Amino acid sequence: MSKTGLLDLVAIRNNTPFSDVLAHYGLTPEKPGGKQVKIRCPFHDDKTPSCSINQERGIFKCFGCPEKGNVLDFIALMEEITDNHAYQAALVALDIIGAAREDFEKPQEGQRTPKGAKKKPNPSKGRKSPQRAKSGATEEEKPAPKKSVNPVIDISLTLDHEHEFLTERGIDPETAEAFGIGYCGTGIMKRRIAIPIHNPAGELVAYSGRWADGDPPDDEPRYKLPKGFEKSLELFNLHRAASMQKQYVVVVEGYWSTLRLDQAGIPAVALMGTDICVVQAKLLSEAGFKYAILILDGDEAGRLATPPLVHVLSQELYVKTLVLPEGIKPDTMDESMIDRLRR
Ligand SMILES: [Zn+2]
Repeated sequence: MSKTGLLDLVAIRNNTPFSDVLAHYGLTPEKPGGKQVKIRCPFHDDKTPSCSINQERGIFKCFGCPEKGNVLDFIALMEEITDNHAYQAALVALDIIGAAREDFEKPQEGQRTPKGAKKKPNPSKGRKSPQRAKSGATEEEKPAPKKSVNPVIDISLTLDHEHEFLTERGIDPETAEAFGIGYCGTGIMKRRIAIPIHNPAGELVAYSGRWADGDPPDDEPRYKLPKGFEKSLELFNLHRAASMQKQYVVVVEGYWSTLRLDQAGIPAVALMGTDICVVQAKLLSEAGFKYAILILDGDEAGRLATPPLVHVLSQELYVKTLVLPEGIKPDTMDESMIDRLRR
């Protein structure tokens, strides 16, 4: 997988004020000081300040060209970084804010602070307070739960992205490759479709294996997750959905539904089941989402799970539900429903 080491890219992003970045590149806002400022866009020939920057959320959008994104995207564009851009931009960001790499390295397994606590990244040199620091402060006093994060793993599997299991589900090879999903011929994932699961920073924390060779033998589960992997700490596809910079996210049960929606350009995450815990709801709000559209499978399990899920999600976001007809899942719903989700 990625060679991004253990740098906490999300923390670096959250601790890199746009004002520092603009100053670094000699870009002056029209009216400095506000939470929303405008600059002459450095990415196109801009006569009027048409690049809008939300300093509080750490994002920018140009109304004169297609460029938009977060502060690391901005740096990557300024530096013309194309390869592994978030990581490379994060290194530049460290330089701009005068922080050391060590300040943002993630502690090893078992020592990491909860995602919400944002405790570690507090660079020494009289830094401004983090732009997007949220209410996590109270959590800092509590001892960390026994297992607060899934450790990052460094495994690279050789996978077939064009396996018929995927093509039959309408998953094109490009999507499969982008997601790192494919059929595995050997090892512990043998005869399964390996599905990488990432943490919110986009680091690999597990592979889920879906049996893909007819019916699984009696002693083989259809889906297999590694022992000790804490599903309730992750949301499948969160890092990619967050990078789409939308206010809403569609929450579904499974991987294939997520892929279908992602292929249609809709930010989607999967619960990997019908349970949710508060940590997962928090991950969504921390990723910048304001609204969740909950679409469970059109079956009894889905209907029963809807009220408790709405209850937990609504502690962090505005929630809407879409109830699917019997037998329909988000990966089999018709195009018109997909269109209604695209906004
Ligand atoms: Zn522009």
